[in-house]
Amino acid sequence: MTVLPQRAAQRTEDGTHRGAVIDRVNGYSIVACETCGFRHALPLPTPQEQSEAYTQAYYRDQKPTYVSRAREDAEWSRLGWDDRLSLFEDLLKKTNAQALSVLDIGCGPGWFLKAAADRGWKTQGIEPSQQAAEHASQLGLSVVNAMFDASTAPKLARNDVVHLNNMLEHVADPIGLLRLAIGRTWPGGLICVGVPNDYNAFQAAARASGTQPWWLVPPHHLNYFDFASLESLLKRVGLEIVETLTSFPMELFLLMGDNYVGNDAVGRECHARRKHFDLALEKAGLGDVRRKLYGALAKAGIGREAIIVARTAGA
Ligand SMILES: [Zn+2]
Repeated sequence: MTVLPQRAAQRTEDGTHRGAVIDRVNGYSIVACETCGFRHALPLPTPQEQSEAYTQAYYRDQKPTYVSRAREDAEWSRLGWDDRLSLFEDLLKKTNAQALSVLDIGCGPGWFLKAAADRGWKTQGIEPSQQAAEHASQLGLSVVNAMFDASTAPKLARNDVVHLNNMLEHVADPIGLLRLAIGRTWPGGLICVGVPNDYNAFQAAARASGTQPWWLVPPHHLNYFDFASLESLLKRVGLEIVETLTSFPMELFLLMGDNYVGNDAVGRECHARRKHFDLALEKAGLGDVRRKLYGALAKAGIGREAIIVARTAGA
């Protein structure tokens, strides 16, 4: 990866997007876009290029160990999924007596939907990668193997919750995608968006001490949200913010001297330690302490992910 130094004075303008160029990487500019209200790469790929990238290549080339590692992480991952599902159940229980429904857009291998199905939710997934969609089907889930776009969205049922995890950072038009997602949600339903929390303070501290900005990976990640820019995007499409969540701030390891950037062995070790921390609290019956800790970090803008639960306008 080649990253040139920041040149804050330089601006770009392409007719639609305009703002300061804050980084340049892999032939892309990262722009603090005044039109969009969040940081994103330019130039953006076409819908055709996006479809090709995610239908065939993504899980094969970018995530070759994803399914096997996810299996190792199953017990720990379930904590995060159950936190979200239990929050959705609390938020929705007053208006919905029968089983709740969820659509997972970009459901990947289906682990989140499986957790929902195991709790009695009615589930539906859509996923462009053939490999990932097949895996989800093998878990017994109903998954449409396609891109979620203006042609496929209307064919999907409406739901109490629409879940978009590690999805919005990949797409060239997150505003259009969110509007389609709202269309698949009942009035007064929930939309949950989880993205990497990028350009956060811990990343800035690591960068200031000489670590390259490893989180910049265009064209795989096109958008670089933090809590503030994700919140303002969700409000812009008419959603009401209900809750902010996060996961362990992995950059803490970097700042404490464990440099996992570009070192898979150190990265795996750090990941094992954060799993140990989360599971230790859970096994001690202190899951609520973990949730409070991460809730407080989210409010401070810290944590590896920015996860926001928002509500659509009522009926
Ligand atoms: Zn823009």
